[in-house]
Amino acid sequence: MYAADSGAMTVDVLLEQAEQKRLSGDYRAGCELARAAADLAVSTDDDAGEAAALRSLANQLMRIGGQEEAIAACRRAVLLLEGLGDTVGLCEVLTLQAIPLLELGMHDEALGVLASAREIAQELGDRDLLYWVHNRTGVVHGAMGDHELSTEYLTLALSMVDGMDAEARFCILNNVSDNAVYEVARLRGRGQSEAADELLTGALGHVAEALRLAREARHPFREAISLDNYGMLLALAGDLDAAAGLIEESRLIAVRAGYHTVESGALQHQARVRLMRGDHAEAIEGLLLALDRARQAGEKPMAMEIFRELSGAHELIGDYLAALTYYREFHDLERELHNEVAAARARMAAHHFELDNVRLEAENARLEAELHRRQATEDSLTGLPNRRSADERLPKIVAAGGPVCVAVADVDLFKQVNDRFGHFIGDEVLRRIASILLDGIGERDMVARFGGEEFLIALQGSGVEDARAQCELLRASVAAYPWESIEPGLSVTISVGLAEVAGPGTLPDALGRADQRLYEAKRGGRNRVHGD
Ligand code: GH3
Ligand code: MG
Ligand code: MG
Repeated sequence: MYAADSGAMTVDVLLEQAEQKRLSGDYRAGCELARAAADLAVSTDDDAGEAAALRSLANQLMRIGGQEEAIAACRRAVLLLEGLGDTVGLCEVLTLQAIPLLELGMHDEALGVLASAREIAQELGDRDLLYWVHNRTGVVHGAMGDHELSTEYLTLALSMVDGMDAEARFCILNNVSDNAVYEVARLRGRGQSEAADELLTGALGHVAEALRLAREARHPFREAISLDNYGMLLALAGDLDAAAGLIEESRLIAVRAGYHTVESGALQHQARVRLMRGDHAEAIEGLLLALDRARQAGEKPMAMEIFRELSGAHELIGDYLAALTYYREFHDLERELHNEVAAARARMAAHHFELDNVRLEAENARLEAELHRRQATEDSLTGLPNRRSADERLPKIVAAGGPVCVAVADVDLFKQVNDRFGHFIGDEVLRRIASILLDGIGERDMVARFGGEEFLIALQGSGVEDARAQCELLRASVAAYPWESIEPGLSVTISVGLAEVAGPGTLPDALGRADQRLYEAKRGGRNRVHGD
């Protein structure tokens, strides 16, 4: 890379590269790039970029064993997308999150996120989103052992795939054929061989098309998983040689690319084909190898399945002691897995708690900033603008053009109110006066608490005569207020001094004159308006 290029690294560029790695199946490199994109987005406060990077990261982590981290990335992305109001993105991430949850054995949680996603997709009436939700829901039910319900969802998704991209088509064709492997065995077990054969024929067609799409896209991961499914279906159709060949091809791709789950799956399936052939010893050998790989990769659900198959294989050759031993191992591991799911749940709950805290802290910071802003500009007793805010706004009101009058309103003999009725009633009087004045002025006018029992009123667009009439109304409103309802014997009036502002720069002069007129009003007997 040229030096000049490195400066141009943006979230978009990194993300694009991460996605290219994902599309080529190079998930390790893709994760690195997605992480770098997420970090860069965080440092530039780019929420949308961070959400997109986390989504790419989760989508790749879960293919290389990073399930818990993938879930955490999804959760963070969900918060960001909620904040951004991106419902489509939200639905996509929820649908994605179902996979790592499923692989950790957290089936209920997986169905939970899918239910939320389905609701969004239906509300949006978005067919593509709904397709993915149905597809994933089918996969989860299959993993839970309900292959009938799985078939229903997958068939529904399959019926919606026309016109969608190659990835979507591959995915559903592959999932339908994967589910068919179980469903065919189940139908045969129940003696429904015709239905089983029909399903098998359909599935063979689907998997062949899936493999073709995977090869066309040059996508090794997709090629490996569809080869494996193809092999298992051929084995069910009785073509054991061809089956072994395809599964071996899948295994080799998996070894090369580091797809551990696929590799242990292929080993396990090869052993199954050998069992079908009657090569028990070879099958057991293969199962032990698969077990080894599955344990190395931490694939406990798969290891569990292999233990059960080992038990079955030993039973077939009459080695009941070994069969029992493996059966015990199967149960021990099942218990262990159960405990691990519980532990993973607890860890993730703690993580969720942390995220909630982050969200709360952000909300607190916002409220604190709002509080500071209010404290700086608002009078805490009356909620009116304070003197500082009035000093800032007055010049703007004058600069807006048109005649402006300023008035100073002062409560008459307020000291006596406090002395007779107490400070508490005095405060209440100030609050009521504030609301009477606020109700009596126009939208473009301003009333502020100037200090103590003094209010400043700015009347925009009124000449001095109109302003005098307005102030007279304000004065009368205060005088006519039912003060007795607060405290028997209480009565309150205000005096008002009024002056017209001649123009910008003469504001201090006008305020001085208003003060002067107020003084005159007081001397003239209070409860009156004096103006220029
Ligand atoms: P005048 O009609 O001449 O204005 O008489 P006055 O009693 O209103 O004037 P003076 O300036 O003597 O008294 C003002 C009083 O307002 C004194 C002060 O205790 C009271 N005051 C100022 N701010 C507050 C407040 O926030 N709450 C209460 N309850 N009283 C206040
Ligand atoms: Mg007073
Ligand atoms: Mg005063």
